Amino acid sequence: MPLNFQTYLSKSACLAVCILSTAVGCAHMMTAPNWNAVAHYSPADGIAAAWDHAADLPSRTELTAGQLIIHADFPLAGQHRLVRDLEALRTDVSQELGLPITDEPVHVYLFEKPDRYQAFAASHFPAFPARRAFFVESDTKLSVFAHWQDRVAEDLRHETTHGYVHAVVPTLPLWLDEGIAEFFELPRVEQGLHREHIAHLSGRLLEGTWSPNIERLESLESAAELSQDHYAEAWCWVHWMLRTSPQHRSLLQDYLTDLRRNHKTAPLSVRFRQTDESLAESSSAVRVHLEKMASNADNR
Ligand SMILES: [Zn+2]
Repeated sequence: MPLNFQTYLSKSACLAVCILSTAVGCAHMMTAPNWNAVAHYSPADGIAAAWDHAADLPSRTELTAGQLIIHADFPLAGQHRLVRDLEALRTDVSQELGLPITDEPVHVYLFEKPDRYQAFAASHFPAFPARRAFFVESDTKLSVFAHWQDRVAEDLRHETTHGYVHAVVPTLPLWLDEGIAEFFELPRVEQGLHREHIAHLSGRLLEGTWSPNIERLESLESAAELSQDHYAEAWCWVHWMLRTSPQHRSLLQDYLTDLRRNHKTAPLSVRFRQTDESLAESSSAVRVHLEKMASNADNR
């Protein structure tokens, strides 16, 4: 039953979403109408995918691209740039995060028309707030749903990243799950540099209304709590770990490796304390990293 699914995200870009998603809390949506909107859901307890054989699933085209099985309700060539891009993303995610590649399929369902996509989502996931795209992890299947629109490439990179990661690390903290997806949602050429998040967090710093705090992120348990600040900060910590030093990168990679074996392994905040840098120093370093990125962006 859809109600058994746990909502993982709450960000939105359109008025329809704001109206439909009030149940999960979305006050920030009203102040960020242009913010990218994607959603990711995971089962609270393992349930079968009741929608798995639904007649309204896209089925006109089916193609395999590495780990992805793409189902579309319109003609889609296997050599389409977006398909190749998503396939390449698998290697990028694996190499950046130090995770193995698996063959567990990630199904990607693409709807050409928004009305068919919305009708499908409303019919099979009525408890979910409307989104341009979303990820569902059932006990048997990893699935991405999206409809074709201007930002479909970004949305699919975000959701497919969830699929690739969950195929090898089924349980990871909400904030990190999203921070990683935000890192990889950008076009490959950006190398994870999320200018929208840099601008947002820089504004917060100038206002004096925000500073990095990984323990605050780790305390987040539901999508209803997630604001744009959280998504941006989650991305910022991930970017700092992956782009500043081999030691920081290893911290993240080792954590993910340990999470594969034991989802109750010590969180990153504890691991930071065990390094030469204190947690306060790490937070300060993240802030400096952000300020540098913002300065570079201003000088471009
Ligand atoms: Zn996500």
